[in-house]
Amino acid sequence: MAILDKYILKFKGLSAGTHHFEYTVDDDFFTQFEGSDIHRGLVKVTVDLLKQPNMLTLDFRMTGEVTVPCDRCLDEFPMPVEYTGTLLIRFAEELPESDGEVLWLYPVESEVNLAQYIYESIVLSLPYQRVHPLDAEGNPTCNPEMLERFRIVSGEEFDGMFPEESVDHEAQSAWESQLAAVKAKMEEE
Ligand SMILES: [Zn+2]
Repeated sequence: MAILDKYILKFKGLSAGTHHFEYTVDDDFFTQFEGSDIHRGLVKVTVDLLKQPNMLTLDFRMTGEVTVPCDRCLDEFPMPVEYTGTLLIRFAEELPESDGEVLWLYPVESEVNLAQYIYESIVLSLPYQRVHPLDAEGNPTCNPEMLERFRIVSGEEFDGMFPEESVDHEAQSAWESQLAAVKAKMEEE
């Protein structure tokens, strides 16, 4: 049996009404997603399914922990997973594009594999910036050797390295003046 087969939910034979399912996501699960930052984890997934004539409503709850590389020191560390979300499964002869909240299936389908939805939900539930938590004194709990190697001593400096949505003009002009200095030195020589 393929590793992800255990996330197949067979809905055809279910009676109308509510049904409860439980799944466990483990290390083997994450090996199935190529290019994933998550290599290890243990997450409990519960699904409360409501079956209606033309629609299935799946209420997901995912709790557990995954191991991810720290953006600052690259050591792996455990990060809690806490996710609740609802997936609607609807049926049509011609499938509209799925938008993440509604999954469209052909009326002849009798089962659905939830693995991809579970994986994407776990990834989405993680914060954009994944760094080791701070200790009681407010210092990063990162690998000190790696920090030394990267010469990153404070969170402020780290944040400055990754100007997010907006362009960090200050960092940019600092970089530009540095470039200008290098250029001037070259012209001198
Ligand atoms: Zn770290």
